[in-house]
Amino acid sequence: MKIIIATDNKGKIKEFKEILAPLNFEVISKKEAGVFDEIEETGTSFIENAKLKANFVFSKTKEITLADDSGLEVFSLNNRPGIFSARYSQEENSPATDEKNNVKLLKELENKTDRKARYVCALCFINKKGEIFDIVETVEGEIAKKPIGTNGFGYDPLFLYNGKSFGETRSEIKNKISHRGKAIEKLIKNIKNWV
Ligand code: IMP
Repeated sequence: MKIIIATDNKGKIKEFKEILAPLNFEVISKKEAGVFDEIEETGTSFIENAKLKANFVFSKTKEITLADDSGLEVFSLNNRPGIFSARYSQEENSPATDEKNNVKLLKELENKTDRKARYVCALCFINKKGEIFDIVETVEGEIAKKPIGTNGFGYDPLFLYNGKSFGETRSEIKNKISHRGKAIEKLIKNIKNWV
C-alpha cells in the first residue's frame, strides 16, 4: 500500500522509510507524489500544523497521507523553539540551518541551570475515505553544553537522553525511544483499523 509523507525534509523521510518498511508500505515523499507546493505552517501547535499539511496533500492526491510536525521544547525558554524549531535561527536574508539553530540554542541557555527539554512529535494520518487520526508523543531529555556526535539531524547533537546525545545514538536505537519512534509505534498498532 502506498503512503505519502507530507514533508520534504530528507532526514524525516529516511526515518519514516526505516520505520514503516516492515509494514510493507511503499513510502513516498510529497514531491514524489507530485505535490511541489510549499505548505505554510500557520498553526499554533504541532498537531494543528500536522493536520494542515496532511489535509493539503490529501486534497491534492486522495491517497493515504501521513504528516508530522515536530520540534524541541526547552522548558526554561518557555518551550521555545517549539513549533519554530526548524526556523529558530532564521533572519532576514539568512535561512536557518541546523548548525545555526544549535548555536542559538546554546547561547540562549548560557546562563540557565535548568536545561530540561522534550521533543514532541504530532502525526496526522488520513485514510482514503478522508478520515483523520491524530497522535502526539514526546521524549524528555536535557540540552548538552556542546554538540556531541554527528548522527541524526536538527538538535540531535545537543539532545541528551539518559546522558547520551541522540547525535551519538544509532538510528535503530533512536527510532525505538524517540518522540517520532513512539508516535510511529502507536500508528503501527492502529494503522490496520484506520486504512
Ligand atoms: P518540522 O519540519 O516543522 O516538523 O520541523 C521540525 C524541526 O524540529 C526540525 O527541523 C528540527 O530542527 C527539529 N526536530 C524535530 N524532530 C527532531 C529530531 O528527531 N531530531 C532533531 N531535531 C528534530
